[in-house]
Amino acid sequence: MRIQIHGLHSVEQFQRPLEVITGLFFEEYELSFDPASAADVIVTFSLHGEEMGAVSGRIVEMANGREWKSDYQIDLRPYKDEKARFKQWKNAVVHVYLTLFQEYTGLVQQWGILTGVRPVKLLHQKLRSGLSQEEAHRQLREDYLVAEEKIQLMQKIVDRQLTVVPDLYDLSHEVSIYIGIPFCPTKCAYCTFPAYAINGRQGSVDSFLAGLHYEMKEVGRFLKERGVNITTIYYGGGTPTSITAEEMDRLYEEMYESFPNMERVREITVEAGRPDTITPEKLDVLKKWNIDRISINPQSYIQETLKAIGRHHTVEETIEKFHLARQMGMNNINMDLIIGLPGEGIEEFNYTLEQTEKLLPESLTVHTLSFKRASEMTKNKEKYKVAGRDEISAMMKNAEQWTKQHGYVPYYLYRQKNILGNLENVGYALPGQESIYNIMIMEEQQSIIGLGCGASSKFVHPKTRAITRFANPKEPKVYNENFVHYTEEKLKMMDELFR
Ligand code: SF4
Repeated sequence: MRIQIHGLHSVEQFQRPLEVITGLFFEEYELSFDPASAADVIVTFSLHGEEMGAVSGRIVEMANGREWKSDYQIDLRPYKDEKARFKQWKNAVVHVYLTLFQEYTGLVQQWGILTGVRPVKLLHQKLRSGLSQEEAHRQLREDYLVAEEKIQLMQKIVDRQLTVVPDLYDLSHEVSIYIGIPFCPTKCAYCTFPAYAINGRQGSVDSFLAGLHYEMKEVGRFLKERGVNITTIYYGGGTPTSITAEEMDRLYEEMYESFPNMERVREITVEAGRPDTITPEKLDVLKKWNIDRISINPQSYIQETLKAIGRHHTVEETIEKFHLARQMGMNNINMDLIIGLPGEGIEEFNYTLEQTEKLLPESLTVHTLSFKRASEMTKNKEKYKVAGRDEISAMMKNAEQWTKQHGYVPYYLYRQKNILGNLENVGYALPGQESIYNIMIMEEQQSIIGLGCGASSKFVHPKTRAITRFANPKEPKVYNENFVHYTEEKLKMMDELFR
């Protein structure tokens, strides 16, 4: 699809948001602001009024001259600073553009013009600013074009989060910790996480762990000195259980020694994503250190799918390791499912739900496959056939109904770029078994300090709420050579926040 855009003084400044919206409708497209370029459709914007007025848009199909129109009223009077005014402009142009293409293609975008990762955060912000629920919902519906169904889902999630973490808005004086272990037994095809096949890399693992212990000591010392408590701790990766039981034991010992007031930490999670890494010894270590929230990720219960995406474990192994973890006292198990894996349609996904029914983990995160730029799968897209938009939506609906029937409630949600069907990932949990860390990371109400490989830190200023990010290197080699530097940089940033 070749789209030519005209009108409105310097409309080019909205190029990026217009591209993102175009990508929701067309897999392949060219966007041009050059009146001489070849085009299948021409979009023209015009403006009426200044402080108060309307942005109008018109789309004309070149092949037959058919056209569609759309208007959006804009009132800039309440917005005094330039940034806020620019945002209003951008939203108005994007609003008109999305409406035009919805009419042109007949495709309705459930999330409207919201293309960011955290739509629920926007609702939190609106409610915190004093808007009534009714007014906040109206704005989502009319200004952002979000479908009623999604607004209801967002509200359900906000309510649930505030039940699970009643002091959610007052936790900026504490932090959560993310610890990234960059190793896995093998690399999956859709993966863009820092994950390196562990076999034959013991030297690298040893140096990495030495660096990680150092970071934990230094950051822990800082937190103790400044009297900053920790809300939650999360071990991710990679697969944190791909290191040995002894290595895990030493790591958790370090955590208890270095971090302040461990008895006040509300939750510790260890991702044990790949069932092929779970052993009775490792489960013993987790129990020894009071870690009872783990993640075991089947992704799918179809063996061929697992093989196609490069997960070298069997379906039976997932089930067996789940039961083992249960027997050994793990009472908060999360499982991740992915909708739209290559070769899978409704039938396969329903089978996966049937299997999940036999296990009933405490929480279930339902992801929709996204084609991340760097993954093996995206690079070889033609090799991996995935279901179409309608089938993906139907699978999502089935997941929603299934979770409801089984007593799960949605408690966090995030979206990704290039996600199939422009849908979302939803975390469901049995009431009382939600992951507080997931809420903290999604709603950005406090700083998350990232330690280890590929761990990003997100510093939320306790007063201004401004967010600064800082990322540790992804590759173990770079991390191993520079962890002292990365620790120092982080401590400097933390010093700014917690004086
Ligand atoms: S197990 Fe997870 S982190 Fe490891 S390669 Fe697969 S998707 Fe990536």
